[in-house]
Amino acid sequence: ATPTALLVGTGRGAQLGILIKGPEVLESTRKVDTVVLDKTGTVTSGRMALAGVITEDGVDAAELVRLAGAVEHASEHPIAKAIAAASTRLPAVTDFTNVEGKGVQGVADGHSIVVGRESLLADWGLALSPEVAVAKERAESEGKTVVVAGWDGAARGILVVADTVKPTSAEAIRGLRALGLRPILLTGDNAAAARRIAAEVGIDEVIAEVLPQDKVAVVQRLQSEGRVVAMVGDGINDAPALAQSDLGMAMGTGTDVAIEASDIALVRGDLRSAVDAIRLSRRTLGTIK
Ligand code: ADP
Ligand code: MG
Repeated sequence: ATPTALLVGTGRGAQLGILIKGPEVLESTRKVDTVVLDKTGTVTSGRMALAGVITEDGVDAAELVRLAGAVEHASEHPIAKAIAAASTRLPAVTDFTNVEGKGVQGVADGHSIVVGRESLLADWGLALSPEVAVAKERAESEGKTVVVAGWDGAARGILVVADTVKPTSAEAIRGLRALGLRPILLTGDNAAAARRIAAEVGIDEVIAEVLPQDKVAVVQRLQSEGRVVAMVGDGINDAPALAQSDLGMAMGTGTDVAIEASDIALVRGDLRSAVDAIRLSRRTLGTIK
């Protein structure tokens, strides 16, 4: 569904690719002092690609990608798309389950497969060997996202997925600071990868390894500390947090549900639009009063 967007800022908003839902949005925009940014798809492009595979002893790398890809094929997550795209002729999957913020599971080629964060595999009683676990930590410290795949009672290896920071994100963060706003990076991804991405764009506050349903609680906690919170996200797992924030901004590249849950849609998918939106609203309000 397209939001019934009202353009304010005398057409300037539209020019900048900013759709504001109503005049009441301006009031909250003025008071915002904290901007929570979702990592994947907001600060980063969200267009992930498979960058490498490390298997446990005796496991064929192509087989790891094929079986993980079979299950991921049923998921919309950027990680899933990267893994599914790395293999052709994926076997059909049955008994698919998406464990939100953790990973996926399903049956393919007669194997019961799980792909996701290490804790999801731990729920199945599966653990990586020390060697592969070390390789996983190394890749994460480089800012990469690593998911673990297992089937038939054992962890079989890791898939390293790399995302890229949008070229305009660092400039956007500088713009937020110039407006006196405090940026915070929020993500379900691991802490090492999150800190690396944060450092790359100039954010020093990071809240990582947050499950989708807990993103709302993070926003609420900041609000209970007296902060007025803007949240920028793409709606993949963060729509409730967008709705909870004082000012929800949805990346235009995001999902319909994000646009539904937000006050402002940033059509261009460029984080600088968030800065423009706040600056524009402050100015517009200045001229109304
Ligand atoms: P973000 O907060 O960066 O948008 P998510 O909450 O969507 O991240 O996901 C958090 C973590 O859960 C991912 O980094 C990944 O480890 C795991 N995960 C989620 N969905 C999947 C999936 N479809 N396949 C594999 N891992 C997944
Ligand atoms: Mg996300």
